[in-house]
Amino acid sequence: MPLYEYLCPTCDHKFDKLQPMSSQGADCPNCEQPAKRAISVFARVGKGGEEHPGFSPLPPLSGGCCGGGCGCGH
Ligand SMILES: [Zn+2]
Repeated sequence: MPLYEYLCPTCDHKFDKLQPMSSQGADCPNCEQPAKRAISVFARVGKGGEEHPGFSPLPPLSGGCCGGGCGCGH
Protein backbone atom coordinates (compact mmCIF):
# COMPACT_ATOMS: atom_id res chain seq x y z
CA MET A 1 0.00 0.00 0.00
CA PRO A 2 1.48 3.37 -0.94
CA LEU A 3 2.36 5.95 1.60
CA TYR A 4 1.15 9.37 0.59
CA GLU A 5 2.50 12.60 1.89
CA TYR A 6 0.07 15.42 2.36
CA LEU A 7 0.48 19.10 2.95
CA CYS A 8 -2.40 21.01 4.41
CA PRO A 9 -2.83 24.37 2.66
CA THR A 10 -4.84 25.68 5.57
CA CYS A 11 -2.45 25.23 8.47
CA ASP A 12 0.73 24.00 6.71
CA HIS A 13 0.62 20.74 8.58
CA LYS A 14 2.48 17.93 6.87
CA PHE A 15 1.56 14.32 7.41
CA ASP A 16 1.87 10.89 5.90
CA LYS A 17 -1.00 8.57 5.27
CA LEU A 18 -1.11 4.99 4.10
CA GLN A 19 -3.88 4.70 1.57
CA PRO A 20 -4.99 2.41 -1.19
CA MET A 21 -4.11 3.56 -4.69
CA SER A 22 -7.72 4.32 -5.49
CA SER A 23 -8.16 6.69 -2.60
CA GLN A 24 -8.48 10.39 -3.27
CA GLY A 25 -7.21 12.91 -0.81
CA ALA A 26 -7.17 13.06 2.92
CA ASP A 27 -8.21 15.43 5.62
CA CYS A 28 -5.70 17.22 7.77
CA PRO A 29 -5.60 15.67 11.25
CA ASN A 30 -4.82 19.08 12.64
CA CYS A 31 -7.56 21.32 11.27
CA GLU A 32 -9.71 18.75 9.48
CA GLN A 33 -9.61 20.58 6.21
CA PRO A 34 -8.89 18.76 2.96
CA ALA A 35 -5.16 18.46 2.40
CA LYS A 36 -3.21 18.28 -0.82
CA ARG A 37 -1.23 15.25 -1.75
CA ALA A 38 2.40 16.24 -2.00
CA ILE A 39 4.35 13.23 -3.14
CA SER A 40 3.81 9.53 -2.99
CA VAL A 41 6.41 7.07 -1.91
CA PHE A 42 6.21 3.42 -1.22
CA ALA A 43 5.90 2.57 2.39
CA ARG A 44 9.16 1.67 3.96
CA VAL A 45 9.71 -0.89 6.62
CA GLY A 46 10.49 0.97 9.79
CA LYS A 47 9.64 4.61 9.79
CA GLY A 48 12.73 6.66 9.21
CA GLY A 49 11.47 10.17 9.71
CA GLU A 50 11.94 12.67 6.93
CA GLU A 51 14.16 10.67 4.66
CA HIS A 52 13.32 10.63 0.98
CA PRO A 53 13.20 7.64 -1.31
CA GLY A 54 16.45 6.94 -3.02
CA PHE A 55 16.35 8.46 -6.43
CA SER A 56 19.40 7.20 -8.19
CA PRO A 57 20.75 9.96 -10.36
CA LEU A 58 21.29 9.08 -13.96
CA PRO A 59 24.88 8.87 -15.07
CA PRO A 60 25.93 11.96 -16.97
CA LEU A 61 25.34 11.60 -20.66
CA SER A 62 28.34 12.11 -22.79
CA GLY A 63 26.97 14.42 -25.36
CA GLY A 64 26.05 13.82 -28.94
CA CYS A 65 27.72 11.47 -31.33
CA CYS A 66 31.17 11.50 -29.89
CA GLY A 67 31.06 13.08 -26.46
CA GLY A 68 33.09 15.97 -27.73
CA GLY A 69 36.07 13.80 -28.34
CA CYS A 70 36.24 14.16 -32.09
CA GLY A 71 35.77 17.89 -32.34
CA CYS A 72 32.75 17.70 -34.60
CA GLY A 73 30.89 20.30 -32.61
CA HIS A 74 27.79 18.29 -31.80
ZN1 LIG B 1 -4.56 21.61 8.47
